Amino acid sequence: MIPRSRLGTDGPSVSRLCFGTLTMSASQAALPFDEGGRLLSYASGKGINFWDTAELYGTYGHIKAALSEVSELPVVSTKSYAWDRAGAEASFGKARLETGLEVIDIFMLHEQPGVLTILGAKDALMYYIDMRDKGLIGQVGISTHAIEPVIAVAYARGALGAEDVPDIVKEFDLGLLREIGVVHPIINMKGIGLLDGFAQDMENAVKAAHSAGVGVFGMKLLGGGNLLNDFGQAVDYGLSMECVDAFAVGMQSEREIDINARLFAGEKITQEELTGVVSKKRHLHIDDWCTGCGACEKRCRSGAIRIVEGRAVVDSDKCLLCSYCAASCPEFAIKVV
Ligand code: SF4
Ligand code: SF4
Repeated sequence: MIPRSRLGTDGPSVSRLCFGTLTMSASQAALPFDEGGRLLSYASGKGINFWDTAELYGTYGHIKAALSEVSELPVVSTKSYAWDRAGAEASFGKARLETGLEVIDIFMLHEQPGVLTILGAKDALMYYIDMRDKGLIGQVGISTHAIEPVIAVAYARGALGAEDVPDIVKEFDLGLLREIGVVHPIINMKGIGLLDGFAQDMENAVKAAHSAGVGVFGMKLLGGGNLLNDFGQAVDYGLSMECVDAFAVGMQSEREIDINARLFAGEKITQEELTGVVSKKRHLHIDDWCTGCGACEKRCRSGAIRIVEGRAVVDSDKCLLCSYCAASCPEFAIKVV
C-alpha cells in the first residue's frame, strides 16, 4: 500500500506518490480527456489520491473526466503564471470551471526562480490567500526549480536565521511568504535541473521549510529521465527523505502506474520489470518545420536548448522534459516523445 503523509502541518493527507499530469498533456502523450481520465481513475484505485496539474498543462479536462469515476475524491494541486490579481482571478476561475471542482486544494505560483519574482507576483498570491480565507482554496504555494524560494519560505516562517540565508532574502519584507503552505521544488540525488545550487543545498532548504510546517512535494526525482541508469538509487534517495511528503511522477500507462505504486509501497522491482516501462527514456523532439526563431532558447531556464544554424538543438543531459519551451513555440514544433 502506498504510504500517506500530511502535506504540511495543516494540509490534507496525500499519497507519497502524486500523479503528475504533465505527461498526458498536448506537448507530451496528448491523451484525450477520457483516456487520461481513465488513467487517473485507475491510479485512484491504486491508492494515489494526489494529482498535480497546471494551467499550462491543459489537463483540467482529464481531471474532470476522472472525478465522476473515482470513489475517493483526490487532492488536486494546480499552478499558474498569473502575477496580478486579475490574472489570478481568471486562472482560479478557469481551474474551477474546467475541473468542475468548487474548491481547489492547492493553488501555486508556477516556476518561481527567486524572491524577486514571488514579490513581483504578490497581488496574485494575495488573491489566492483571499480565496483560501474564503474556503475556496485549501493551501497556497509555489513551484520552483531553485533553492532560493524554498530558503525564503523557511526564513519567513522562522526556521532559518539571518546567518543561514543569502543577502537577497534579507533585503525584503517577506511577511507574505509566511502564508505559503506548500512548496513544490525539484528534488533529486544529483540536483539535476536546479538553477542555483546542489542537491545537498535543496535538501537543507526543504528540511528547514518542512520543520516550519510547510508541505513539501518534489518533482523531477529522476532528473527528467537523466537518472534512469541509477533508477533504484534515485528513488531510494527520494523516498528516504522524511521531509518530503510526496513526489509528483508523470505516468502514461497502467503499467507505469503499477510499477510506481509498487515502488512507493516499498517493493523491490527487478530490472526486467522496469525494461520498457519507466526505464524508457523520453526525449525532446524538434520538428523539421522549426524556423529557428529562438523563443524556446529564451524560455528554457536550464540552458538546454539553443539555436544552431537556424534550428533549435537540445542538450539532453540538461533537458528536464518540463515542456515549458513547447508552450512558447509559435510553430508547435516541440514535443516530448
Ligand atoms: S520556438 Fe519553435 S520554431 Fe522557434 S526555434 Fe524553438 S522550436 Fe524552432
Ligand atoms: S529544453 Fe524545454 S523541456 Fe528541456 S528543460 Fe528546457 S524548457 Fe524544459
